[in-house]
Amino acid sequence: VVSVNGLKKSFGNVEVIKDVSFDVSQGQVLSILGPSGSGKTTMLRCINALERPDSGVISVGGVSLDYGKGKPRFRDALAQRRHTAMVFQHYNLFKNKTVLRNVTEGLTVVQRKNGKEAEEIARNALEAVGMAGFEDRYPNNLSGGQQQRVSIARALALNPSVILFDEPTSALDPERVNEVLKTMKDIAARGVTMIVVTHEIRFARAVSDSVIFMDGGKIVEQGAPQQVIDHPQTERLQEFLNSLA
Ligand code: ATP
Repeated sequence: VVSVNGLKKSFGNVEVIKDVSFDVSQGQVLSILGPSGSGKTTMLRCINALERPDSGVISVGGVSLDYGKGKPRFRDALAQRRHTAMVFQHYNLFKNKTVLRNVTEGLTVVQRKNGKEAEEIARNALEAVGMAGFEDRYPNNLSGGQQQRVSIARALALNPSVILFDEPTSALDPERVNEVLKTMKDIAARGVTMIVVTHEIRFARAVSDSVIFMDGGKIVEQGAPQQVIDHPQTERLQEFLNSLA
């Protein structure tokens, strides 16, 4: 479903992503670990075509962009973006819209669904994240964990080829972290393809099919979670895991 091949990205003369390649199959969960500044967020932004890599090929849901051939057509970048949905650290909900409207917005505006259909999809998505009954509330009246679950419902409702999570629990109070991780686990169990940038090692170990450890813009280790997390091969990853413990 997602394939990244030979991805390179620099800002000015700083190379932030250095020849990164990986694949995620349908229904799989990939977790990306790594220290601050290792290029994780930039990678997610390349996958949803918000950032333009210098070279490499990225395919999502059958739309393939080859950056080695120069700037892709806007239409193609947009088509790829529409195969993705993003969940941000700070939720990014519309404060002036109800929970239900937050979820229907992309369905009506981007996917051009009619109001009734959008509402039905949105209610199902809210149910899936345990937020049924909150449809008429506003984001400010919800806890951080509840807001994040709404933003997960918003992503889920779009039925994208992949949901990209950028440190979805790192802005939450510790007691709210688990409810969001449980929601993510629930939707993974529904067969949703996910790429998750996270510092939650236990989540990565329990839920991921594969794990990537990035450092300095490169993939340092990559494999099954039991292999990467329980048996790190490099000193760099060992140090990183110790720093989180
Ligand atoms: P964090 O966990 O802190 O979010 P990260 O692994 O997600 O880190 P990125 O946000 O991808 O790392 O950033 C990688 C590097 O690229 C950093 O050194 C950052 O300062 C730099 N960078 C990111 N975006 C830009 C930009 N738009 N312009 C210039 N430099 C950037």
